[in-house]
Amino acid sequence: MQCLRNYRNATGYSQPPTCVCSGCARAKAAINKITVHAKSQIPSLLQKLYVTDSFLSQWLSKNNNFDFQYELESLDGLILCKNGLKYQKLTNTALLNLCNDCYSSLSQDKMPQFALANKIIEVFFHKNLVT
Ligand SMILES: [Zn+2]
Repeated sequence: MQCLRNYRNATGYSQPPTCVCSGCARAKAAINKITVHAKSQIPSLLQKLYVTDSFLSQWLSKNNNFDFQYELESLDGLILCKNGLKYQKLTNTALLNLCNDCYSSLSQDKMPQFALANKIIEVFFHKNLVT
């Protein structure tokens, strides 16, 4: 195994490290790190990822057991992939990974195309308006 690892490192075949994006749950090599502190306002960048509609939030908790609760309370209510979050107990902060697609859209105050929040809203409208 070590031999294979040495070969890959020496030949440049090693994969760049990937992280999971907290916005869209996709594994990406290029990731932006956002630090969120406890008891402080959520960065405005993340506002689009909130469940703001009470009807939608009731439907989600009734039908899908989504709780939108995180170790860091200031993140509660955001639609995030927990695999893209890292809670740091010592500093009481959370480190969020955001891929370039999500980061770029959120920076322009747009809902990222592949964001979980966007997908959930699509499913909600499909199930409630089409049937
Ligand atoms: Zn993303």
